[in-house]
Amino acid sequence: MAANIERMSMAQAVPAPRAFAGAAQSFAVQPAKGVFIENRWRPAHSQNAVDVVDPATGIVFAQIADCGREDVNAAVAAARRAFDQGAWGRTRPTDRGRMLARVAELIARHAEELAVIEARDTGKPLSLARGDMVATARYFEYYGGAADKVHGDTIPYLPGFFVATEREAHGVTAHIIPWNYPAQMFGRTVAPALAMGNACVIKPAEDACLSAHRLVELIAEAGFPEGAVALVPGRGETAGAALSGHPQIDFISFTGSPEVGALIQIAAAKNHVGCTLELGGKSPHVLFADADLDEALPIIGKGIVMNAGQTCSAGSRVLVERAIYDKVAAGLAAYFTGVRAGSPEMDLDLGPVINAAQKKRVETFRARAKADGIPLLAEGSIAPGVDPAGYFVTPSLYGPVPRDNDLACEEVFGPLLVLIPFEDEADAIRLANGTDYGLMAAVWTRDGNRALRVSRRIRAGQVYVNGFGAGGGIELPFGGMKKSGHGREKGLEALLEFSTLKTIILRHG
Ligand code: NAP
Ligand code: MG
Repeated sequence: MAANIERMSMAQAVPAPRAFAGAAQSFAVQPAKGVFIENRWRPAHSQNAVDVVDPATGIVFAQIADCGREDVNAAVAAARRAFDQGAWGRTRPTDRGRMLARVAELIARHAEELAVIEARDTGKPLSLARGDMVATARYFEYYGGAADKVHGDTIPYLPGFFVATEREAHGVTAHIIPWNYPAQMFGRTVAPALAMGNACVIKPAEDACLSAHRLVELIAEAGFPEGAVALVPGRGETAGAALSGHPQIDFISFTGSPEVGALIQIAAAKNHVGCTLELGGKSPHVLFADADLDEALPIIGKGIVMNAGQTCSAGSRVLVERAIYDKVAAGLAAYFTGVRAGSPEMDLDLGPVINAAQKKRVETFRARAKADGIPLLAEGSIAPGVDPAGYFVTPSLYGPVPRDNDLACEEVFGPLLVLIPFEDEADAIRLANGTDYGLMAAVWTRDGNRALRVSRRIRAGQVYVNGFGAGGGIELPFGGMKKSGHGREKGLEALLEFSTLKTIILRHG
């Protein structure tokens, strides 16, 4: 609770973005495109716009529509028409799959353009943004291939009866997307929903949503009928709240903070619809004394530095068996010392964080760690030549961090890594399960029995053994336990979330 209050007060205290007019660079601020309904941009009902800020400079370089209730109503109505009466509701699964495959091809064809947009919007290094586009295309490819392979069952029942189940789309699905991996998150939630035949209304995050603006255009270009997708850019409290509370929505997919996740769940409850919530984590690496440290340490270091630590599944706690604590601390300190932050074009280890509030949040954690006397083992650097108004933060390694300290328990969403020693296997499991979160974990050991034993005791949606891929592959079901949320995305599981089951009971005598 203290952290929430602090988050709110920090948000109020952050400086305003720099106006373009006073900046040295000369470029035109891209005007807002409006709201995307029935495969075309229309002016939003409200004349207002939301500024889009370049996190590497703090300069406004584009605007998006500030959609309100009227725009959301229009988008949902179009989606309803498409699903209930339109061509989209009658499209065969095989054709849905082919359309999704075409989207994958279009993303691949426009990958460089999309990566440049994404890097500018989020501040992430260009190579990371390029990798994001490969993953985004892959979501559409994977779910395109799966669209016509979701089968029902037949069930043996009473004599004279034939019973079958089939999976049906929910209808109109709402997708509320975060700013950390905007294009990937779009693919993760929209591709499986479309594969199952839902009509999707998407609310991207105001801090980074320009790739979503291009992706809906590519979806239209791929031949999706009118109303299959709609995009309502704008603010969370207005467009997001209007969408999640809309009585004509049949399902909500949300990724973001636990606080807003609770509001989404309340909105879903009021309309008696389901939702999936992916709410972040404080994911542990559990390093036993027999682990292969040459393998483990670079993966652990890169995993928290990637995307400036703004990865829901980042491994942000390293739990280390005491016998190897000093060795691990020294190895990770050497890694952190070499880490460099810079602009997207510099393409270094990490970029800035997303906005001034997030920078303030990371800096508050650093200041508190100092005040609490937590040893700072190593720091990375911010490259000379970056814009001082950019939202850069210093990657930092801390340890040993007391188990109950905020730094050891709360999600920072920044490039801060904490080391905590443990005594034995039972202690490691207790520590791994010792936060409110349960999204991911990694167990590092050469002892196969122990690896399996510990993996099965950790309360998390995904557990890696001797490896770690934040978020894992597209084929691998992913989602939270505890405060990390519920529901599963990725893999074939996502197709179950984005559909419902009907049982047809036929009495033939
Ligand atoms: P957030 O407010 O939860 O934003 C996530 C999404 O929800 C955005 O699209 C946001 O729109 C929307 N939203 C905000 N208020 C809403 C409301 N009342 N009703 C419906 N939708 C609403 O997250 P944030 O403020 O950007 O980030 C805060 C913290 O959340 C981070 O520090 C991090 O800890 C966590 N986070 C986690 C993830 C993850 O992947 N699990 C991703 C992002 C952030 P607007 O952005 O336009 O307000
Ligand atoms: Mg931005």
